[in-house]
Parts: sequence; C-alpha cells; structure tokens
Amino acid sequence: MGGFLMARHRGLPAYVPGEHDEGGSFIRLNTNESPYPPSPGVALAVAGEIDQLGYYNDPDCTRLRAALAALYGVEPGNVAVGNGSDELLYWAFLAFADEAHPIALPDITYGYYELFAAVHGIPMHRLPLRADFTVDVDGYCGLGEMIVLANPNAPTGYAVSVEAIERIVRSNPGNVVLIDEAYIDFGAQTCLPLIAKYDNLLVVRTYSKSRSMAGARIGYCFGSPSLIAQLETVRNAVNLYSVSRMAQAAGAAAVREDAYYMENCRRIMASRRMTTDALREMGFEVLESLGNFIFARLPGMKGRAIVQALRERNILVRRWDAPRIEDYLRITIGTREEMLALIDALKDIIKENRP
Ligand code: PMP
Repeated sequence: MGGFLMARHRGLPAYVPGEHDEGGSFIRLNTNESPYPPSPGVALAVAGEIDQLGYYNDPDCTRLRAALAALYGVEPGNVAVGNGSDELLYWAFLAFADEAHPIALPDITYGYYELFAAVHGIPMHRLPLRADFTVDVDGYCGLGEMIVLANPNAPTGYAVSVEAIERIVRSNPGNVVLIDEAYIDFGAQTCLPLIAKYDNLLVVRTYSKSRSMAGARIGYCFGSPSLIAQLETVRNAVNLYSVSRMAQAAGAAAVREDAYYMENCRRIMASRRMTTDALREMGFEVLESLGNFIFARLPGMKGRAIVQALRERNILVRRWDAPRIEDYLRITIGTREEMLALIDALKDIIKENRP
C-alpha cells in the first residue's frame, strides 16, 4: 500500500478482531462479551433519548460520571468516560507518551496496546512474561517509563496483587501507570483505592464485559482530578462528543441496576469454574483465570486444529499466531448451557483425534 498514507503508518500492524457473527448462528465464545442481555432499565433509558437525538449530547457526560462516582465512592472529577475503553486507552497513550517516551508493557497482553503505540510513534518496551505467564513485577519497579498493565491480563486471565501495583506506581512517580481493569468484575482485586494516594495512576474500565454492553461502546476511567484533567485536554482536542446520548443514558441506567450485573458476574464465575474443571478432566492445561474467559491448551493437539474443529461444530473461540501461545485457545465464558455445548464438542473432537 502506498498512495497517500504517511510513511509512518504504512507499517502499522493489523489488529485482527475475533470473527464477527452478526447473524448469531454460532455460539460466540471468541470476543469476551457477556452472554446476558443488558438490564431492563437500559432499554427504557435509550428509548427516552430518541426525542432528543437532534441535539448534541452532554460533552461532560455529567450524569454518567456522577453515577459512576457514586457507585465507586469517588468524586465526578476522578472520572472520565470514552467511546469504549479503547478510546480512553488511545487518549492516554496520546496524552502521556510520545516518540521520546516509551511505554513498558508485557510481551503477551491485549493486542490494541501495540496498535495505539504504533499509530502515535511511541516505542514499546516489552517485558516478557515469565515462562508460567505471570508478570515479573520487579521489572516494572523504578523503570521511569509509562507502564500499561491489564489486570487481570488478557489473554492469560492472571492478575497481580494490589500490593504489587502499589509498588510499581510508587516507584515510578514521574510516569503514568495505566492499569486496565476491563475484567476486574470477575474476581480480581481492584487497585481503585490507590488513586487517592497516587496522582500517576489511571485505572481504566469498560461496560463491554461485565456490563453486557460491548455494542454501546462505553469505557470509563479513574484517576486523580489532575490526571483526569490532563487526559481531558487531549479528549477535548480529539472528540468531545464521542459518548453518544444513548450510551450515556444506558451507562447511567446500568449503574442503577448494578446488582443485576454483579449477579451475572457470579454466574459467569461459576461457569468458569465448571468449564476449567471439565477441561482439565479431559487433559487440557487451563490457566486459573480471573477474567470472563479461560486460556487453555491440549498437549498433543495443535490449537489451530481445535479452533477449526469447533468452528465446524458452530462454536467460535480465539487463538493467536504468536510465539509461546500459538496452541492456546482463549475461550469466553458464556452461559452454562453454552459451556456444556463446548465441553461436549471438545469431548467429540478428542475422540475423533485419538490415534
Ligand atoms: N482492554 C482489554 C484488556 C480488553 O480485552 C478489551 C477488549 N477486548 C478492551 C480493553 C477494550 O474494550 P472496549 O473498547 O470494548 O471497552
């Protein structure tokens, strides 16, 4: 590709999203969405905005920020919202790093970090996960670089402790430490209370996993008022209106019905336990995940072959052509029934491939 694209963008790696199944003909265990619908108040709140669609949405997202602040015991000035957490990540990379200021992150983590760094020309300092896929926390202490950690990490599902995060944040006072808590509602401990103590900590969250609203595109983040104001400087320059009326109303309604979502998270965690145990019983190695997904491989069988065999049985899961993880499947936790269908399909595939 040449044409008009600036030279620095020509080598941008492609983000390969999970296969999109618009028609719903597959069991979708490949994009870490929630299998449960949004709570009833969301539909009403969205419908209530239709009359107002001719008018711009509130650029300050006042109601949504107030609702999130009340739910999590912080002030509205501690909160910013974006069009999915991807947008908040994009803004944070733009705001807090540049060509001369690298970002440190694990070698195996959420794929979009690499894209956001590349599009801004930010060098990446990759710190390899240990052989067992855990984060080497000491490697991040006193680094003097912006640090980005998904906690729990994706696609491993492993989390580091709040104490470990505090050590990293405390030892890098001159740089932003971004903790991506996209999967925090599935059992890991949040580092949110630390924002009261450290002005360099940004905690990013999303409605796409535990809040059943990946398609509404709502992300939010927490930090000191000063850090949030610095992030807003960039947001104001890029797209002040990126969170639509419908999304703002849906997000606030979901906060009012938080108990519904937390109950769904408990169901997902129970299905995660059941699936992990069943797969181990079949001979899979399964990481003990704290996300709404598991990361697993079957010794003796290629990951690619299992993905294909599942697809033929109408089940989508995710896999990457990347060193160390090419034979692992990342399997989103769906409903209990969906997981039972997955377990049956895997038993079938194993039987077929037995020598
Ligand atoms: N962070 C992590 C770790 C993720 O896995 C994802 C989505 N797969 C995101 C952020 C982005 O989520 P969204 O933009 O839908 O909020």
